[in-house]
Amino acid sequence: MLFKNKEVQSYFPKLDSMLQKILFEMDEISKLLFKKEIFVTSTWRKKTNDSGIHALYRAADCRTENYYTTLQLDILVSIINATYSYDDKRPEFKVTLYHEVEGSTWHIHIQVHPNTKRLW
Ligand SMILES: [Zn+2]
Repeated sequence: MLFKNKEVQSYFPKLDSMLQKILFEMDEISKLLFKKEIFVTSTWRKKTNDSGIHALYRAADCRTENYYTTLQLDILVSIINATYSYDDKRPEFKVTLYHEVEGSTWHIHIQVHPNTKRLW
């Protein structure tokens, strides 16, 4: 698993344990299928104009631009969302999304909730 910088890496041990587990699993899948480690660009950050879930240690972002092909991205996101449910009371929310927020480039966002569980 690669990190954008030391600061991003320094927050990793404080992340929600389920989020750490999912990131390790994504890293294994990415290495196995695409021969590259995931590249974590953001872990904890203070609440700004996003949902604030990063400020709760429950989200991380991974680089996609100039890193994965569209097909690789689809595969990675699909596997994680087929493996974990974010909150079974709100099935519209997913553990992994591919999105763009104001002031950033497209990236994979991984998030967990106290109800997040492995499906199989
Ligand atoms: Zn995010």
